[in-house]
Amino acid sequence: MATERTLSIIKPDGVKNGHIGHVVSIFEDAGLKIAAMKMVVLTRKQAEGFYAEHSERGFFGELCDFMTSGPVVLMVLEGEDAIKRNRDLMGDTDPAEAASGTIRKLFAASKGENTAHGSDKPESAARELAYFFGAAFEIC
Ligand code: GDP
Repeated sequence: MATERTLSIIKPDGVKNGHIGHVVSIFEDAGLKIAAMKMVVLTRKQAEGFYAEHSERGFFGELCDFMTSGPVVLMVLEGEDAIKRNRDLMGDTDPAEAASGTIRKLFAASKGENTAHGSDKPESAARELAYFFGAAFEIC
């Protein structure tokens, strides 16, 4: 299994509700390394660019409002099979459907405000890491 890098975001609800440490512990306990980390407040332009693939969806405005509503924590996770393992640790998009013990089941309130983002495939990870961390993390 290849070592990969993937983007994780602790969304504004996770930061506001005091779950940064819990989420980081879940990753580290699973053997994923935090290779880089920064806390930022996204601009509207950054949020819209990041979620551009959803721009035609009815929830796009709400999603961008939420993602710019407070600080987020951007992380580069590194480890074997990191992309899929991060997705597994996050759980289903809708916390009501998420498996027990997953980040979204533990901490998220709704499908919109769902605590964590994780790149869904290698192409997304490359784009998303470059988007927030620059060329150093384009290759995963
Ligand atoms: P993910 O890969 O599990 O994050 O899910 P998607 O790529 O399908 O959606 C991206 C993000 O858009 C989700 O994580 C949610 O924050 C948001 N989202 C998805 N569906 C809805 C919805 O029906 N309503 C709202 N408000 N947000 C949604």
